Amino acid sequence: MRKNAFIFTMLMVAFSLSAQYQLPKLAYSYSALEPYIDSATMYIHYNNHHGAYTKNLNDALAKYPELQKKPINELFANMDQIPEDIKTSVRNNGGGYYNHVLFWELLSPASQSLMSPYVEAELKKAFGSLDKFKAEFEKAATTRFGSGWAWLIKEKNGAYRIVSTANQDNTLMSINKAQGHPVLALDVWEHAYYLKYQSKRAEYVKNFWKIVNWKKVEELMKK
Ligand code: MN
Repeated sequence: MRKNAFIFTMLMVAFSLSAQYQLPKLAYSYSALEPYIDSATMYIHYNNHHGAYTKNLNDALAKYPELQKKPINELFANMDQIPEDIKTSVRNNGGGYYNHVLFWELLSPASQSLMSPYVEAELKKAFGSLDKFKAEFEKAATTRFGSGWAWLIKEKNGAYRIVSTANQDNTLMSINKAQGHPVLALDVWEHAYYLKYQSKRAEYVKNFWKIVNWKKVEELMKK
């Protein structure tokens, strides 16, 4: 029995070494975003949902070692070159993997959620005022029908734009109409808020402002 357990553990280690994508460590505890995002939602969202996207992405890429080695941004930028049999999986699970890695980094405990003068100036320049920026972002988040994401993106020409995407699509994917690198992201799938907020997505979206990691936003703005 013990020997079997040892062999199983070694197999799991070998598998995790061969799989390129791993669940990232969270920088905070499951309860750190309370009361705005509850710990049960964080636990399930991270382990079950993000965990499944990660596993399914690795499974899809296992047949294509040459794709496994490429950075995920490159896969997104050339979706038309991905083999037909895994294209949908890379889109859904690759998007799910990448979007959530970013999302966790863009959240922080409320006590540390402070907007720097740099971010404030950039947003005011782009949207006129912080209120206008927030209203437009909230609109993108609340009007996205079904499951998806709201984004603040920086386009190639340096302009900021607010958009939303369906499912796990993002603005790095060549199949998406809006193109640019994400600066802020909000998951508006029901799994992100339903335990606590039920159908009140707008309330979840409003509370998001209390737990944004603006340091990460600044880093992405300067990229
Ligand atoms: Mn999610």
